[in-house]
Amino acid sequence: MYPRLTIDLKKIEENTRYLADKCKSNGLSTMAVTKVYCAFKEVAEASLRGGAEYLADSRLENLNLLRDLDVPKVLLRLPMQSEAKRVVELADISLNSEIETIKALNQAAQEQGKTHKVLLMIDLGDLREGILKKDVEYYVKSILDLSNIELFGIGVNLTCYGGVIPSAVNLGELTDIAASIEEQFDIKLNMISGGNSSSLYLLDREGLPSRINNLRLGEAVVLGRETAYGDRIDGTHDDCFTLEAEIIELKEKNSVPTGEIGMDAFGNKPEFEDRGMMVRCILAVGQQDVEKGGLIPTLEGVDIIGASSDHLIADVTHVKSDLKVGDTLTFKMEYGALLKACTSHYINKIFI
Ligand SMILES: *Cc1c(COP(=O)(O)O)cnc(C)c1O
Repeated sequence: MYPRLTIDLKKIEENTRYLADKCKSNGLSTMAVTKVYCAFKEVAEASLRGGAEYLADSRLENLNLLRDLDVPKVLLRLPMQSEAKRVVELADISLNSEIETIKALNQAAQEQGKTHKVLLMIDLGDLREGILKKDVEYYVKSILDLSNIELFGIGVNLTCYGGVIPSAVNLGELTDIAASIEEQFDIKLNMISGGNSSSLYLLDREGLPSRINNLRLGEAVVLGRETAYGDRIDGTHDDCFTLEAEIIELKEKNSVPTGEIGMDAFGNKPEFEDRGMMVRCILAVGQQDVEKGGLIPTLEGVDIIGASSDHLIADVTHVKSDLKVGDTLTFKMEYGALLKACTSHYINKIFI
């Protein structure tokens, strides 16, 4: 049944092992981030076989799928106050930056007779989540007053929103903050989490500041790519996930539409390059299932030229082999396309 997403569990395991080993030899534990693949349990288990020590996701629905796995689970997105009870039920650790939310977690933990661990997020310039440096003392003091919350550590998230690249400078600030918290409050922080797949490149250069002892890895595991510069990571696979879609029309047609051009399916005014006549195929998959810009054809000569909700159009003029209606084309994917493909319930998922 097409479209079909094939997920190679062996390759996920190997990617995780390569990265977890590398982290370990640098004194870092590894959280395998499961959100891009909607936390399919088979894939999360492959990452655990590969040596991930934590599973982390931004959504409770996903952590719920993993609840039977005997490993600490981490909620990556700041909790909604309204879900505090479920957070305490489903996550051992959550990332936080709002004291009222942490109080709600404390209340829920009290009711459930649990201690909930909090990783306090610090904003070091990327401008997504995190408290500002000037507020660290107030937050730590307030958290330490709560009976059922353990301040497990601190963390930073970089590159996701502002594109800020991790460096000795901003990660050095994180370890300075950790040291000053420990000294001022006479406590020990268990975890200093130094970011996501964009921090990996530092391991091959000057390294991470030594107090940092954890990374949270999504893209690096699933696509074999570091995200500071977008480089492939040697020794990992970039085809753990492949998408196959079926050709439903194959004809020689013009490269430029005929008639007055108005708006396309998404309200944009399209522009066309005149390449003369071309062999065009339509695949039965669309923007509802993938990002057309994030598909990487495995067959040479395939050029994706457009997509509407349910159709993907490719120029296959320069394909050497004979294609016919009913054949399939295969694609590797970028992060955004993979995210949509995993989320789309129109795509059949196969684990091998
Ligand atoms: C998504 C996410 C990650 C993983 O990011 P990758 O770039 O995929 O490694 C790590 N931390 C947080 C807080 C996230 O939301």
